[in-house]
Amino acid sequence: MFKDNLEDTICAISTAQGEGGIGIVRVSGRRALAIADKIFSHPGKEKPSGFKSYSMHYGKIVNNGKIIDEVILSVMRKPKSYTREDVVEINCHGGALPLRQVLELALESGARMACPGEFTKRAFLNGRIDLAQAEAVIDIIRAKTDSALKVSLEQLSGGLSKEINKIRKNLVDVLVGMDAAIDFPEEAIEQKDRQKILTVLDETAKNLNRLLDGSSSARMLREGIHTVICGLPNVGKSSLLNALLKKERSIVTSVPGTTRDAIEESLDIRGIPVKIVDTAGILKPRDLIEKKAVLRSRERIKQADLIIIMFDSGRRLCAGDFKLIKEVKNKKTIAVINKIDLKPRIEKEKISKLFSEVVEVCAKKSKGIGLLENAFLDFVYKGKLKSPEFMLVSNLRHIRALKDAKKMIDQAKSALTEKLPPEFIAQDLKDACVHLDVILGRSFPEEILERIFADFCIGK
Ligand code: GDP
Repeated sequence: MFKDNLEDTICAISTAQGEGGIGIVRVSGRRALAIADKIFSHPGKEKPSGFKSYSMHYGKIVNNGKIIDEVILSVMRKPKSYTREDVVEINCHGGALPLRQVLELALESGARMACPGEFTKRAFLNGRIDLAQAEAVIDIIRAKTDSALKVSLEQLSGGLSKEINKIRKNLVDVLVGMDAAIDFPEEAIEQKDRQKILTVLDETAKNLNRLLDGSSSARMLREGIHTVICGLPNVGKSSLLNALLKKERSIVTSVPGTTRDAIEESLDIRGIPVKIVDTAGILKPRDLIEKKAVLRSRERIKQADLIIIMFDSGRRLCAGDFKLIKEVKNKKTIAVINKIDLKPRIEKEKISKLFSEVVEVCAKKSKGIGLLENAFLDFVYKGKLKSPEFMLVSNLRHIRALKDAKKMIDQAKSALTEKLPPEFIAQDLKDACVHLDVILGRSFPEEILERIFADFCIGK
């Protein structure tokens, strides 16, 4: 993608494309202030290179005597800036033309166009943030709900990095302590030392597991909980979906089997993103289209994070219901008894025995929907977020690295128990450290960096 020439001064429009009240052209690098001196004109004596850090100045961007735009220019001097380099931000009028002309002028004056994510990449390469924090930046930009934003902000502020550094430090301490044993391999590790090391490794494995435990919750907070509503035709699936969406979307009719195929909706349940599919139900397919829809429903159930199985309060459980119950047997499921406004006929005790989470609603009148929302929240948080030290890891790259590190720790533990020579144990611990370093970006193949930053927008 791009060569990391930190000597270059980079420049880009940092605000979103399209018309807006303000648009910002950002310049970062050794020549940022000199470029600003060339193109910025204002009544004061001082040039931008003489401006105080964190100051803003009113003036004009001028090209050969021609005014391009009236702007506010801000200066952030190194190292206290986003990239740790001199940064100049020019607040222009937010139209496409003034922004482009200011950008072009900056480019002509000695900057080069920034690649996607290059400002953030510089923040990383210049040591202001580690890789996990850099990745949090993109997650913040993309966050769709409050909870997703909270997870990413925690990561940006270094919460995850601190945890990883703590784990890593304990491993390095063990490695240092083992030096003597490695230098004199004939002296095997003494029993009491072995016990000490085992204690540290047990603790490390526990900490890694704790981080991994939260990863499914974190993924759901970021990507949304993949949820499937299933239930026999006419049980009220579309009505429930509509009640959750608080808008009419799927077609509600009293003819069984109207929802012939899945409709996916995205909703925000108290800050949690939910992707919800109303399936065709597993009914007896009447034609090829329905047959395919049934197969797809089954596949969706298999892949879902959560199932909502619905029952009709006004009917007794039937063979079809039991067939569905069997389909969702091994999945996390919330049972919803709908139509509680009707005379109750359903065997509630049976449902309560089968499912730990049962919610009663009247979808048609939007009653009990709050209870269902509570059940969603319980499902995601599992009470864990209440603990202050609970850290959520949502990035797949981090999850993989944590799992790899955990594998190495387990291997070291067995090597220790089997009384293998100390170099074996040391090697496993070193490998575990390398995996942890991957998260922080201390050891990184260029190709991984490129892939991470290519995901960013230009100007960030
Ligand atoms: P689906 O086939 O499972 O998607 O069911 P629909 O949402 O299309 O609803 C089927 C029928 O049940 C419609 O006539 C709805 O108006 C009705 N219905 C849905 N929810 C309720 C409810 O809570 N009470 C009553 N009495 N009828 C409902």
